[in-house]
Amino acid sequence: MRLRLPDDSHVDARIKGKKLKPVCGDRVVAERIPGEDDWLITAIVDRANELTRPNMRGQVEVLAANIDLLIVVAAIEPTPDWFVVDRYLSAAENMPTAAAVVLNKIDLDPDARAETTLSEYAAVGYPTLAASAVSGAGIAEVANLIAARTAIVVGQSGVGKSSLINTLLDTEARATAEISTKRDEGRHTTVNSVMLDLPGGGAVIDSPGVRDYAPALESADAVGRGFREIEAARGDCRFANCRHTREPGCAVKAAVTAGTICERRYESYKRLLNLTSRLGSR
Ligand code: GDP
Ligand code: ZN
Repeated sequence: MRLRLPDDSHVDARIKGKKLKPVCGDRVVAERIPGEDDWLITAIVDRANELTRPNMRGQVEVLAANIDLLIVVAAIEPTPDWFVVDRYLSAAENMPTAAAVVLNKIDLDPDARAETTLSEYAAVGYPTLAASAVSGAGIAEVANLIAARTAIVVGQSGVGKSSLINTLLDTEARATAEISTKRDEGRHTTVNSVMLDLPGGGAVIDSPGVRDYAPALESADAVGRGFREIEAARGDCRFANCRHTREPGCAVKAAVTAGTICERRYESYKRLLNLTSRLGSR
């Protein structure tokens, strides 16, 4: 395991005992092992959030921790599935972490037709950007958006996540990343995420698992919290436990009718709620 010290230098570290399971992004308490170059991790600082997925044995596996920004990537090609984007954003709201939507491969769509959907996300307060890992358009804006934060990049396969990350990195940072990935092999067979420092500040946590991350199904309450405009309107619903589907006096449905809540996002909410209820109540 690689450890970044407060002076930004990197050292190898071992883990004290069998119970501690630090993941990429963790902040830890560590001490130098007397007479050695290695450090010893003795404690993990409480996590602000975790990116998790169920593993083969049905246990929850933590892929990364302390994420400041979840960047959902959609692209001109493959045709965006905006429901998938809404699911990622719902997961971000529940982690919780800040989120943004990046539309990649803008070089393939000079007319920028998909940007009309982007504006629906901007309307509810998500930073949105159009970019191209190929032409370089919007890449500086993505770097500015990340700023000093630690980000992860998620989205459907083929949208250009790896390409975007590579474009954000300089060659020097990439070389460092390859070294730390190699060192992790064998010790962490399932989770080997790496922290990639960006040349202008901030970092991206990356691994195949992070890139392929698909949110687990949430409880009905979590689905409600996952749509910030619905969460903001629900206080005016007649019933405190309103699901905003068939209930009378529903402020959310009224807002959809009035056009202040985007109908497409509301449909995503109902679709996700439906998937959840098929699981049975939790
Ligand atoms: P990932 O599965 O999300 O990591 O996607 P990749 O980074 O592997 O990219 C998938 C394909 O899209 C590759 O063939 C890339 O060369 C291509 N690609 C990535 N970004 C862009 C872009 O901005 N414009 C165009 N035209 N192609 C891109
Ligand atoms: Zn309601």
